[in-house]
Amino acid sequence: MGHPPSNNGCRPGGGAELKIGPVVSGKWVPSLLIVPDRSGSETAGLPAGGPPFIFPPDMAKKAKVYQAPEFVVDLLNARSPSGYETEAQAVFDRYVEPSADEYRRDALGNRIATLNPEGDPVLMLAGHMDELGLIVTFINKEGYLYFDTIGGHDRIMIPGRRVNIQTRNGVIKGVTGKRAVHLMSSADREKVPQIHHMWIDIGAGSQKEAKSLVEIGDVATYDQSFELIRGSVGVARAFDNKVGAFIVGETLRRLAAAKRKPRARVVAVATVQEEIGVRGATPAAYSVDPHLAVAVDVGHATDHPDCDQRKYGETKLGGGPILCRGANINPLVLEKLIACAEKEKIPFQMEASPRPTGTDARAIQMGRGGVATGLISIPLRYMHTPSEIVDLRDVENSVKLLAAFALSLTKGEYAHW
Ligand SMILES: [Zn+2]
Repeated sequence: MGHPPSNNGCRPGGGAELKIGPVVSGKWVPSLLIVPDRSGSETAGLPAGGPPFIFPPDMAKKAKVYQAPEFVVDLLNARSPSGYETEAQAVFDRYVEPSADEYRRDALGNRIATLNPEGDPVLMLAGHMDELGLIVTFINKEGYLYFDTIGGHDRIMIPGRRVNIQTRNGVIKGVTGKRAVHLMSSADREKVPQIHHMWIDIGAGSQKEAKSLVEIGDVATYDQSFELIRGSVGVARAFDNKVGAFIVGETLRRLAAAKRKPRARVVAVATVQEEIGVRGATPAAYSVDPHLAVAVDVGHATDHPDCDQRKYGETKLGGGPILCRGANINPLVLEKLIACAEKEKIPFQMEASPRPTGTDARAIQMGRGGVATGLISIPLRYMHTPSEIVDLRDVENSVKLLAAFALSLTKGEYAHW
């Protein structure tokens, strides 16, 4: 999620082998295959071809290990600061292009995948694949790198991080340095450091050495990759908004693989440069020229100890996709999303936005002659920090909801009102 314009900011999983202990009902079982189904839950059983087997209940429970889909893991680990989305583009190309009837790359770097090109209405699904980053602006005579921020950083989170700098010659490792606490005045200790009071240290001994490794305009991201911390709850550097790009791409893949075909033309777009002003979605919406659109981004889960629900509403991790209501949202699109969720028994939560949202929905709604736009947000804690938390069940439920929504559309359904 980027900042809103006002001052009020802000392959289905592959199977995995799990070794399970030696004795089950008096028999030696060397290994058990845990196969996640498309809903993200898992079924445990013997390796293919083995005899039917019934678990003791406690062991069955233990065997239920959540496994994140490879596509989302690859996206989460790809580095893609706004304007430098190459790694995420490559992941989207690898997973989505084979399922699309048409696939385009545009001048900004958006990825535009179309299913059923003759279909009507035209439905655009958009999730941005860019993330926050740091951009090198100056290399001083000792070889330290000074930087500016890409996207809305919380400056207090920047120092003391390991970073990967993407350069012409591959990744250079560095650390975001600042003065140690012992060397600060007591007044300075109370302050959040200014950007120019921090630097990136790559261990270079001179400006010449640093300049031989890193160029002005190279970008850096935190060296923090995805991991599950409990069940389907994961932590990553940039769930915002690789999960959105995953959801739109995965929805297209599932629709392409399903027996029932949508009547709509479905266009899944992984947009770029959202974090610096929804810049990819604007030209994408122009070229796709959709009747309807759903943007997918992350939203704040307000279920942690320091969030005032009187100000920010009530949303929680694992509570299902958050559906937005307000002027940015077409009421008929919202009504239909709710009806699809209820029909498919998909949990969902509501949020209200009195103004254009800080998401691609803002740009898409105002595209061309206006687009009937909805917004789905994935509940997330600690937005724009190196350790964002998401429950991947909410991600899976969003894929199901979007697929149901796409299949529900009928010819001429443009949500004009
Ligand atoms: Zn964001």
